[in-house]
Amino acid sequence: MQTIVTESVDVAATWINKGEIVAFPTETVYGLGADITSDAALEKIYTAKGRPPDNPLIVHIHSLLQIQEVASDMPESAKSLIHHFFPGPLTVILNKNPDISPLVTAGLLTVGIRFPAHPVAQEFLRRCNHPVAAPSANISGRPSSTDWKAVFDDLKGKIPCVLKGPQSTIGLESTIVDCSVHPPRLLRSGAISLESLRNVVPQIRAVSSSEKKHPPKSPGLKYLHYAPSAQIILCEEGNSSIDRDTKNAWIGLSQPPEGIAKAAICKNPEEYAFRLFSFFRECDREGIGVIFCEMPPADGIGLAIRDRLQRAAMSS
Ligand code: AMP
Ligand code: MG
Repeated sequence: MQTIVTESVDVAATWINKGEIVAFPTETVYGLGADITSDAALEKIYTAKGRPPDNPLIVHIHSLLQIQEVASDMPESAKSLIHHFFPGPLTVILNKNPDISPLVTAGLLTVGIRFPAHPVAQEFLRRCNHPVAAPSANISGRPSSTDWKAVFDDLKGKIPCVLKGPQSTIGLESTIVDCSVHPPRLLRSGAISLESLRNVVPQIRAVSSSEKKHPPKSPGLKYLHYAPSAQIILCEEGNSSIDRDTKNAWIGLSQPPEGIAKAAICKNPEEYAFRLFSFFRECDREGIGVIFCEMPPADGIGLAIRDRLQRAAMSS
């Protein structure tokens, strides 16, 4: 299959409206979308990514009115979160409308909904006939794609169209809050921190470490994720012993130890998040054997970076 790269939201939406899948930019990471009413198109997402069938997709909308098409009810907690954080890097889990295909929700009775803030994503979604279900636009298990070239590297020949936009400004996937349970529960950390969520809905629970191992309601979290080919070694500031025989890289907030071949020194946790996945991919292209990743402080977006680093390290 030929993969076209276009900057035209019209061209990209035309593919969606005829039952095809399209990669598109958002502020978190690039998504790989399909019309939620087309099972044939939804199947193509799982095939192109090699995605396990029990890992649900997130429904992307361009207007609050579309929530009614997707969800069957709206608890007060969800109302408040949506009021404060939509459009933005937040996915809210609600009970699903019974018409929603099990291919969107991987058979769950709930559905994840996100309204991206990215202007190109909004323009594109506005031109699609229905909401668009999309996971991240990468081969399953690999780091999420934060620019169109990463999408192209992973999915060329497997999808017909990539909508080209700028590099994703956040660089990590959305924060996910399950509002189908009471009290609501944080399922995945992201750019919207637990602190800011609790400023709006104080009852939100974080997932406990035992729940992380056996997540009852977010099947995707059990899979290996975000892994470059290089081995990941996590380290705290100034605490790492370097094997000089391997081609090493370093990403973190402080200066790398001596003997590092390639380094990304980030000014703050936001820049760390922005650069992380594209740095992993660069390291793979350059044949780096080991990537040392400095753990950022465990607050704000630092919690989300730590979560992704821990998962990447488990997978490597
Ligand atoms: P991705 O966009 O690739 O991060 O994939 C979407 C992720 O959203 C999945 O891996 C799940 O962890 C999460 N998700 C989507 N729908 C639901 C749902 N109904 N309940 C819980 N988690 C969900
Ligand atoms: Mg993903």
